[in-house]
Amino acid sequence: MSFNLPPLPYAIDALEPHISSETLEFHHSKHHSGYISKLNSLIEGTDLAEKTLQDIVKTSSGGVFNNAAQAFNHDFYWKSLSPNGGGLPAGAINDAIIASFGSFEEFQAKFNDCALNNFASSWTWLVQNADSSLSVINTANAGTPITEEGVTALLTLDLWEHAYYLDYRNNRSEYLAGFWALVNWEFANENLAK
Ligand code: MN
Repeated sequence: MSFNLPPLPYAIDALEPHISSETLEFHHSKHHSGYISKLNSLIEGTDLAEKTLQDIVKTSSGGVFNNAAQAFNHDFYWKSLSPNGGGLPAGAINDAIIASFGSFEEFQAKFNDCALNNFASSWTWLVQNADSSLSVINTANAGTPITEEGVTALLTLDLWEHAYYLDYRNNRSEYLAGFWALVNWEFANENLAK
């Protein structure tokens, strides 16, 4: 068994003007695809080839972990964005944000601060803890919160430069503004309900 590149959940130009077709095409068909190809080559003929992607992420290290986690993180990132996204959260995710951060504005400021100060190639996440509270956390390289017991990922933002350099050069704060215009609150609500 080997893993296939999941298709994007929208058209290649659907996130414009915030994320260009050029960025999305390259990010999906070169970077995301590359992690999956590399993972397949690493697990071929081993016991890992029979496991799910999440099981591999949770039990591996080194190159297998890096490529499996990047494969998972990218699929999660595509789903964290939507051409119909942006605006204010609604429903259970809105209630949970207010309960944990005080207001949407305080949550957004916290997320922006974490993302802007997340050094080098990294990810910023909104997660739900075992006690149902929400947190904003940073991970480095291929790091992913699904390795933490009791932590549920709700949303993620890819902060590797390949995610935004073609569109925004080194201006990560403008990329963040694009993220807020695309953020998929429905996906966050689906993850919260699990
Ligand atoms: Mn990426």
